[in-house]
Amino acid sequence: MEQKRAYKYRIYPTNEQKHILAQTFGCVRFVFNWALRQKTDAYYKEQKRIYSKDLSEMLTALKKQDEYAWLAEVSSVPLQQSLRHLDKAFINFFEGRAEYPHFKKKRNQQSATYTSNAFVWRDGKITLAKMNEPLTIRWSRPLPEGSKPSSVTVSKDGADRYFISILVEEDIEHLPPSEQNVGADLGLKSFVVLSDGEVVGNPKFFHKDEKQLAKAQRRHAKKKKGSKNRDKARKKVARLHARIADRRRDFLHKLSTRMIRENQTICVESLAVKNMVKNEKLSKAMSYVGWSEFVSQLEYKAEWYGRTLVKIDRWYPSSKRCFDCGHLLDSLTLDVREWTCPECGVHHDRDINAAKNILAAGLSVQACGEAVRPGAVKTHPGKPRRSRKPRS
Ligand SMILES: [Zn+2]
Repeated sequence: MEQKRAYKYRIYPTNEQKHILAQTFGCVRFVFNWALRQKTDAYYKEQKRIYSKDLSEMLTALKKQDEYAWLAEVSSVPLQQSLRHLDKAFINFFEGRAEYPHFKKKRNQQSATYTSNAFVWRDGKITLAKMNEPLTIRWSRPLPEGSKPSSVTVSKDGADRYFISILVEEDIEHLPPSEQNVGADLGLKSFVVLSDGEVVGNPKFFHKDEKQLAKAQRRHAKKKKGSKNRDKARKKVARLHARIADRRRDFLHKLSTRMIRENQTICVESLAVKNMVKNEKLSKAMSYVGWSEFVSQLEYKAEWYGRTLVKIDRWYPSSKRCFDCGHLLDSLTLDVREWTCPECGVHHDRDINAAKNILAAGLSVQACGEAVRPGAVKTHPGKPRRSRKPRS
């Protein structure tokens, strides 16, 4: 089956290309923030929704004004794509998967997406609109034979590294069926706990990195504002952040690929990011940051390889319910790691019991033929909250 798949590589732009990219990133960021402001104002002041089609027309008009003429200096495609990204951010928000969209800041990762009409793909080389020469790409692995990129996203991270993510249509073969199924729960002391009792990803794994990061952050805070040393210290912090992010991503990919390979059905709890941030204990663990990324990896890998991912409603009482007899506790506070069922007397590890319940619930949902396609979990859209003022 033809599937869309992204391949990411490091790129080394020339100074001229860096200049064009910096300009483009700036315009993309501006358009995103401008459109977010339009949408937010329209919603709060007039209870109206603005759609991307309207925004697209408003953007065209904006570019014609003298004071925004600089927007016309870069390729128009990434700017239109920026409106699409905002649309997607709103869909994720309304479906309970993400927070209300934030304004983009200059310090964070920058990116620009080019659809096929805004780049040339020839002899295995990619030349972006407004550029004279192709990008220097470090091909760490080959693109699938004969594939043709449908869009590319160029990005720059906090450590000033540049990347290109190339989207191609690829024929991915389904894996042979497996007889195993698994339930996974977000652990408190570990990243994930599986229904067979396996505990994966001790946060201590990242402990050394985090200590180093905290030290670098303290150093940065002590340096005089505007000084060269402060800038140096900031870069050091950014490099550490980038390294931690790389390691986490790598860890999540290995885990999600393994779970998809070994199991036919994978059941997970769909967690609302908003609720988790409020919970201090969880927000301290690295867990919640990775969880939604992890679930989305499972989602697309399940589709590629012919597996089923079942997302259990987050209101399902997976922790408080005894797996053995179904007894439901009135409450179970976060500090309780183990408990004994008052009904049947079975002693439970909190997380393993939850993972077993998630698996059982997932399999029964599947057996009933209810919606199991990705994203089918219904959540109630919360009220959008006021966002901060744009800073850039
Ligand atoms: Zn029991």
